[in-house]
Amino acid sequence: MQYLLDTSVYPREPEPLKELRQATAKLPNACFGTSPDAGQLMAMLLKLGNAKKTIEVGVFTGYSLLLTALAIPHDGKIMAIDRDRTTYEIGLPIIQKAGVEHKIDYIESPALPVLDNLLGEPKNEADFDFAFVDADKGNYWNYHERLMKLVKIGGIVVYDNTLWGGTVAKPEEVVPENKRELRRHAVEFNKLVSADPRVEISHASIGDGIIICRRIC
Ligand code: SAH
Ligand code: CA
Repeated sequence: MQYLLDTSVYPREPEPLKELRQATAKLPNACFGTSPDAGQLMAMLLKLGNAKKTIEVGVFTGYSLLLTALAIPHDGKIMAIDRDRTTYEIGLPIIQKAGVEHKIDYIESPALPVLDNLLGEPKNEADFDFAFVDADKGNYWNYHERLMKLVKIGGIVVYDNTLWGGTVAKPEEVVPENKRELRRHAVEFNKLVSADPRVEISHASIGDGIIICRRIC
């Protein structure tokens, strides 16, 4: 892992992302931040898919948000949703300095009602190229149902923390009690999405695990 980071990730991590990662490292919940190797893969997916209009569920200090903003074109747009804006304020000056704030439409709210609102207007259907879901783990399947309408066919949806520290592969009894509920959510979601004919998937064991879905119908 260290080899990978030292050789292929850190030397190519854009300066603003490095700064944001370092500013985040001082916080008590620093581990929430997307790992830079997974971030590099996400930037690659955004560029391969020519993503222009995206949704992010769960911003925290903005690492995944900033990498998205750097990867999409100048006139791209990200709808970034988080129920608590305080951590975003830490990343915002770095995002502004990077010159990409104009691409971000930040919404402070629980995410599910925002997606439901979007679906209230037919023009938003299949209007997004990419989505990243990294919050509110118990609702991943609910996000998935909505994103299958909001993201276009051929579009990408990425779900984070699908390995939940590796606990999904262990029997529940050996998992610390405070991790069991989210482990159960992850196991359930992984099973459902794996059986979903609307998407092609790749479950990548990078960071804390990401499931990459490509909508096919
Ligand atoms: N993607 C971020 C990490 C997100 S951490 C990064 O790369 O750094 C999860 C975030 O989800 C937290 O900031 C939390 O405030 C937010 N969150 C939790 N539940 C939520 C909900 N129901 N709706 C929207 N945001 C939520
Ligand atoms: Ca995460």
